[in-house]
Amino acid sequence: MARAKETRQFQTEVQQVLKLIINSLYSNRDIFMRELISNASDAIDKLSFKAQTDTDLIGDDNEFKIRITRDGIKRTLEIADNGIGMTYDEVNDNIGTIAKSGTAAFLEAMQALNQKEAPLTPELIGQFGVGFYSAFIVAEKVTLITRAAGEETATQWESSGDGAYTIEETTKADRGTTIRLELRKPDKDEPDYTDEWTIRNIIKKHSDFVAYPIVMEVEKQEPIPESEQVLDSEGKPIGETTRTVVRDETLNSMKAIWARDKKEVSEDEYKEFYTHISHDWNPPLKHLHVKLEGTTEYTALLYLPSKAPFDLFQPEFKHGVQLYCRRVFIMDDCKELLPEYFSFVKGVVDAPDLNLNISREILQQDRLVLNIRKNLVKKLFDLLNGLEKEDYDKFYDEFGAILKIGIYTDPANQTKLADLARFKTTTSDGAWASLKAYVERMPADQKEIYYLTGDSPTTLLNSPHLEQLKAKSFEVLLMTDPVDEWVVQSLTEYDGKPLKSAEKGDLDIDADETKDQEEQFKDLFGFIRKTLQDQVKEVKPSTRLLDSVACLSGDAHDMSGYMAKIMQSAGKDLPPNKRVLELNTKHPVLDKIKQIYATDQSDARLEDYSRLLYDLAVIGEGGKIENPSQFGKLIGDLMNSALN
Ligand code: ADP
Ligand code: MG
Repeated sequence: MARAKETRQFQTEVQQVLKLIINSLYSNRDIFMRELISNASDAIDKLSFKAQTDTDLIGDDNEFKIRITRDGIKRTLEIADNGIGMTYDEVNDNIGTIAKSGTAAFLEAMQALNQKEAPLTPELIGQFGVGFYSAFIVAEKVTLITRAAGEETATQWESSGDGAYTIEETTKADRGTTIRLELRKPDKDEPDYTDEWTIRNIIKKHSDFVAYPIVMEVEKQEPIPESEQVLDSEGKPIGETTRTVVRDETLNSMKAIWARDKKEVSEDEYKEFYTHISHDWNPPLKHLHVKLEGTTEYTALLYLPSKAPFDLFQPEFKHGVQLYCRRVFIMDDCKELLPEYFSFVKGVVDAPDLNLNISREILQQDRLVLNIRKNLVKKLFDLLNGLEKEDYDKFYDEFGAILKIGIYTDPANQTKLADLARFKTTTSDGAWASLKAYVERMPADQKEIYYLTGDSPTTLLNSPHLEQLKAKSFEVLLMTDPVDEWVVQSLTEYDGKPLKSAEKGDLDIDADETKDQEEQFKDLFGFIRKTLQDQVKEVKPSTRLLDSVACLSGDAHDMSGYMAKIMQSAGKDLPPNKRVLELNTKHPVLDKIKQIYATDQSDARLEDYSRLLYDLAVIGEGGKIENPSQFGKLIGDLMNSALN
């Protein structure tokens, strides 16, 4: 028995999104058509992909198309496709609930924007895949009727966008989805979306590249065949020689712009095509249009986006390019054509010699695919190397953290990727610096490339670990991306210069002097180590400190403080990571403590001060101390005696 009509409430978040869309996109309302057509086109893509392994799905209804039907009197507009359709449950999940990650992320971004009082732009909305709801900008009621490929029953969903929707089972003659809009009355200066030329213009502008025909019935003047004309005695026609007929017309050119000659494609066309395939409304930063002939034959049109999508770092982020074979769509999100560190690249690859029966699983081992991938990577390196500094910096702001993954995942290209990597440094004043520039600036007595990892640039910049290095005018790379921890494990040198942590191992500055200090403080440090034996594995004179009294370090192969933090926040159980406590033996405080120790080894202050030194070191690297109240009390006592 069919499921009866039910009325349901939109989730609160969906209502909020709806309101925002309607209000903020009102001046851009034409885009509703593009969004609905793009959904129709996606639905056909999905079906054609699924049908590669299940040909029965398509049956007789084998001419893919999107149909627009308009009625100027009833003021309705329909957009129908014969794509994959949706089941009852899919309608429930996809339309009207927050199940889609985009809606939740969208609201989060909105709230962040509100705090900054930044305006909401269509570009912003476009990033979040809330396209379907844009129908409510122009419609007072939206009805969706859909039948999933291979299913008998259909589902009808209906809403006026006012908080509730209805859902019920129904019947539908053919597979696919029809969206029916009951349009609002247009104001004086508003376009009439049932008007033929309004529709033609919008499709031409926003949906010309859609790969399936968008058809609409239009009125045309046609000559009346002579056999049907009434002629006078002299054989001349009486009355009209033409008549008005209604014919289907395809409104989009469907031209595969990647297949055209570069010279014949305008910048605007490249941009429109980008919007079409990426669903990103920001213009792309750059595009790459290549055609390769010979044994590895392919055409590619790839884009570098100008903004990172909100879900770039989420595991469910869909990456990859569209794969075509002689202009026939094969699959979306083809990951195999580009490595993970280029997952932000959007575009199309058309490989005419591709084996059409190839499955996603085998694609990875396909020789042709492997060759294309290798070639595309090379072309993308060239593109990035050719960018103007300003563009490259912008690109790096958005995608640097992803690109760097290649340094440890693609050993064959490690050097090229290290050349492309940028870091902020102690002297770059917030600007990106390349390793090449760093090496060029190194003073003659500096032998190594120093870096420090951590999550906050400010904490790093002021870290006690850097005091000696700063005094020697040695520049230090400030690495604040979690991936940097993996980068430095794999990239051990650049241009013959070893990379060295400013936090771990010996700094090898003034080695003789440290030896001497070690002797002098041996007994006291032994005592401190014993007091702190649960926290530290060693106490030693620091080669890093100048003004501060204490810091934590590790042996060259120990886990850094930042790495431990990353692992903990990822919920990993860590083996106890005991650090090295480094103390500044030139600091007057240590001299005084040494004197106390020399006078009376059982002085109660010695233990307190040992703990205090450790806590100061933890705070210095932006860490959390274990017993803040004890720390506070000690400081209070110290202040008191200092003020007396
Ligand atoms: P997006 O297209 O970015 O996923 P939309 O809001 O445009 O977001 O659409 C939401 C979802 O509804 C789509 O992901 C798809 O699953 C479903 N959907 C929308 N329109 C159609 C359609 N014409 N045919 C099949 N499914 C559709
Ligand atoms: Mg969409």
